[in-house]
Amino acid sequence: MTVIDGKATAATIRAEVKERAAAFEEKCGKKAGLAVVLIGNDPASQIYVRNKIRACEEAGVRSFAHFLPEETPQRDALALIEALAADPSVHGILVQLPLPRHLDAMALLAAIPAEKDVDGFSAENIGKLAKNERGTVACTPLGVMELLRRYHIPVAGKRAVVVGRSNIVGRPMAMLLLNADATVTICHSKTQNLKEICREADILVAAVGKPKFITGDMVKEGAVVIDVGMNRDENGKLCGDVDYEGASAKVAYMTPVPGGVGPMTIAMLLQNTVEAAERTLS
Ligand code: NDP
Repeated sequence: MTVIDGKATAATIRAEVKERAAAFEEKCGKKAGLAVVLIGNDPASQIYVRNKIRACEEAGVRSFAHFLPEETPQRDALALIEALAADPSVHGILVQLPLPRHLDAMALLAAIPAEKDVDGFSAENIGKLAKNERGTVACTPLGVMELLRRYHIPVAGKRAVVVGRSNIVGRPMAMLLLNADATVTICHSKTQNLKEICREADILVAAVGKPKFITGDMVKEGAVVIDVGMNRDENGKLCGDVDYEGASAKVAYMTPVPGGVGPMTIAMLLQNTVEAAERTLS
């Protein structure tokens, strides 16, 4: 079994992005810029945002951090996003989710222009993905495709099963696999015969959010298993959606948790930001 090393792959991509960021800076005299908006006190979001800001610094991307209090009204949040949308130093805008419950997340995300939507969540970018047109794609599923590509894992013609249909992982993941000519099945909480469907997968992507949900008897011999899940097990240890011990005995390739898909998400965010900056030159 080959362990798909997301940490090492992400480091390679971050080095590539750093070179592109330096080339951009040399060409236009300013850095590529990413604005990160965090509203409220969610502890996990604070860690994610801190990591993203640090990653920007390391890659030579300028970060604009905006931390707003939990009780920020919709109009203030909207005014900030509109100001960032108009700011030529800002090439990408990221609004960290989840937002406090009183805010209309869809309305705020809709205020991010598609060309600065480095998370790929805008209606325009989702529409482009659905039509298999060039656009910006959500970082986590894009990172999965990059892992498959860099490990030379063929996708065209393969049976791919995605467990999970969220807007940020499952749905765009399925679209990307379809666009890469896989035959795709999407499973969710109402799916019947999940085990049988998973066992047909040449490529199985788990994005469920339940620790060790996919057990060894749910995977096919020789399959490629991508574990997007980031959960805590009963001992508080970080684990994926796949039972690693059970599945790794049977499969050909597998991503570990941690060190698999997770590091790729930030690498893809940096890549999307530098690409957004580069597009302003053309
Ligand atoms: P969501 O909770 O938004 O979606 C979970 C999906 O799993 C839903 O579509 C749900 O179905 C489905 N599901 C739940 N129970 C079952 C079941 N019994 N059988 C089949 N399907 C089921 O989660 P996310 O997509 O946001 O995240 C999924 C996981 O990925 C989480 O662990 C999250 O932490 C992780 N994650 C990791 C990232 C990374 O960078 N590595 C980035 C983003 C997420 P239904 O739609 O019917 O409710």
